[in-house]
Amino acid sequence: MSVFSLCTTLLAADTLEDIKKRGVLIAGVKEFTPGFGSIDDNTGEIAGYDVDFVRAIANRLGVKLQLQPVTSSSRILQLMKGDIDIIAATMSKIPERAEQVDFSYAYFFTGQKFIVKKGTAKKLADLDNKKIGTAKGSTSGQNVSNILPGAKILYFDDYPQAFLALRQNNVFAVTSDEPILVSLLGEAPDKEQFEIPDIRISDEFYGLGIRKGEKKLLDFVNKKLLEMEKNGEAKKIFNKWFGPNSKMPMKRGNFRITAEK
Ligand code: GLU
Repeated sequence: MSVFSLCTTLLAADTLEDIKKRGVLIAGVKEFTPGFGSIDDNTGEIAGYDVDFVRAIANRLGVKLQLQPVTSSSRILQLMKGDIDIIAATMSKIPERAEQVDFSYAYFFTGQKFIVKKGTAKKLADLDNKKIGTAKGSTSGQNVSNILPGAKILYFDDYPQAFLALRQNNVFAVTSDEPILVSLLGEAPDKEQFEIPDIRISDEFYGLGIRKGEKKLLDFVNKKLLEMEKNGEAKKIFNKWFGPNSKMPMKRGNFRITAEK
């Protein structure tokens, strides 16, 4: 070990130890994204796929779980500031973010689509030169700009506000990952007026985010994720939120948690 790496090792924070001492894992989760993180009417607590993954990690550590609401634009900042220990908030693994946070292995796979008023868009070209709404801090706006340079992206605080803009004809479409769009529609009393056409523009792999250099915590989380895949817990959580008897049935397809993604 070089003197430099010895120094950085000695100086490095040890969040895993802190969590154990504190007896609490503080996780940043979404609160307006049904399926992943939203307030359960019965318990008043935030619940969802993301929450169940961090709960499993907290249980394995033998500590309590504390949930801290985050948004797409606040999550990385809240992690870097030390408000939270881990992000579990529909966050895609992309190289730009990997410069700021360390990602776990992917624990969810999906793709980006659009919600439009029924019959207004059948193919990608129908969306070009249009106003498209999404959430601040998401990758969704950039993905659209990359393939539709003529599109004007409007950023809202969160997805419900973007959807409201579509209802009010202030945008032509709302874009995000498919399950986020499905959940927006699922909640809408006027959902008959909208549709999600078969236009898929990206692959999104969600990772849990932790502060850079926290190798012990990252290794622990990754080990737990692989274990959850192996013992069926990951599939069980998927089925609870997105299985055939859930509010948002989806296919897990070939996705498995592996050390490769
Ligand atoms: N998965 C995309 C992202 O990480 C969109 C969902 C979100 O805004 O969290 O930005």
